[in-house]
Amino acid sequence: VSVEEVVKDSFNRIKDTESQIDAFITLNEEKSLEIAKELDEKGPNSDKPLAGVPIGIKDNIVTKDLLTTAASKMLYNFNPPYDATVMTKVYDAGMIPVGKLNMDEFAMGSSTETSYFKKTKNAWSDKKVPGGSSGGSAASVAAGQIPVSLGSDTGGSIRQPASYNGIVGLKPTYGRISRYGLIAFASSLDQIGPMTRTVEDNAMVLGALSGHDVHDSTSAKRDVPDFTSLIGKDIKGMKIGVPKEFMGEGVDPAVRASIEESIETFRKLGATVEEVSLPHSKYGVQVYYIIASSEASSNLQRFDGIRYGYRSEDITNLEDVYVKSRSEGFGDEVKRRIMLGTFSLSSGFYDAHFKKAGQVRTLIIEDFKKVFSEYDLILGPVSPTIAHDFGTDQDNPVTAYMRDVLTIPVNLAGLPGMSLPCGFSEGMPIGLQLIGNYFEEEKMYQAAHAFE
Ligand code: GLN
Repeated sequence: VSVEEVVKDSFNRIKDTESQIDAFITLNEEKSLEIAKELDEKGPNSDKPLAGVPIGIKDNIVTKDLLTTAASKMLYNFNPPYDATVMTKVYDAGMIPVGKLNMDEFAMGSSTETSYFKKTKNAWSDKKVPGGSSGGSAASVAAGQIPVSLGSDTGGSIRQPASYNGIVGLKPTYGRISRYGLIAFASSLDQIGPMTRTVEDNAMVLGALSGHDVHDSTSAKRDVPDFTSLIGKDIKGMKIGVPKEFMGEGVDPAVRASIEESIETFRKLGATVEEVSLPHSKYGVQVYYIIASSEASSNLQRFDGIRYGYRSEDITNLEDVYVKSRSEGFGDEVKRRIMLGTFSLSSGFYDAHFKKAGQVRTLIIEDFKKVFSEYDLILGPVSPTIAHDFGTDQDNPVTAYMRDVLTIPVNLAGLPGMSLPCGFSEGMPIGLQLIGNYFEEEKMYQAAHAFE
């Protein structure tokens, strides 16, 4: 088949299903077909196995001349003058960005309900949230609109929606992928990662996206390995730890049962699976909401109504430009984070909150290091529950925050984490989480593929 046919198929599928799913904020049809035709004229290129593959992009990744909103009114008219580094890499690989995907506003949320634009539906049920914040990225792949999407994960935003929609999502090691051009939420936690239907696709796309970047001082100076190199190798003798804190009371019994069944599968495949402990991970959510909100309050200062984005109409002086633009441009959840963050960073509270949180973060990291001195991988659920109904968390942000209790410690430690479909409950998918040691994504793909 020609690339043009593949891309047309993808847009047809989007047209057929989008009224149900509502995954996209912006479609990029004309440009996509142009790139497809160019690729067809050039003919096949064996150096570029991903050439011609349609890909969806989370709307917090900046795309040159293509509307990039972070699902916020604040950026409703923002056409970036440059491409994020991952976009340059997407184009270099010959992949075709078909559009920009819905998300929670500035990636703050776990259900994609905080988007200013629309509510994306779970691919398995229109009553259920797709998860978040990369809800559009997950639902779109699960609904067969596209084979691959990019998400971002600050506290679980790739893994949780992947789990809710039954697809494969990987948050790489912090530093593996450049964050240049990712609209910053919490810079010490944010990572971009691939969301796909299969493990092998995921490994291939990660390879295309990874590598050091002079534009991001936190990107790692590491060679990019062939992430597919261990796929197909058996996992006999692999040591897997299951933190007892990840299988406790708060985890829905159906989810726990499915993870226990998965553990048996790993044993049958020849792995040793044992209970381990991450004693400080129970403080992860508290630590995260101090650190992530503090960093967000600082990162979001740039939205001042002057340089770009939304500006209030009702302005009589300079202070109005800032105050009214920000009051009208940001949604409630974003404002909540800015207030939490500025409070934690304010003099008088800094030592009790921000500094303390940093200290507990170190303890969480030490726990992981101890386990990884003996084990190859850590296994547990992604989320304590399956996808929930729309509106569930409306009146209680803390219920929403607790949904990330099993994914957040991984971001705090900067480790790679993956969500892998492992079962169903009430017709909705359940996700298994694999956590690897720093820069050991190959091993995660090896184990995931053996399980898949
Ligand atoms: N749900 C978490 C939050 O609201 C994580 C979001 C994310 O990973 N971007 O902050």
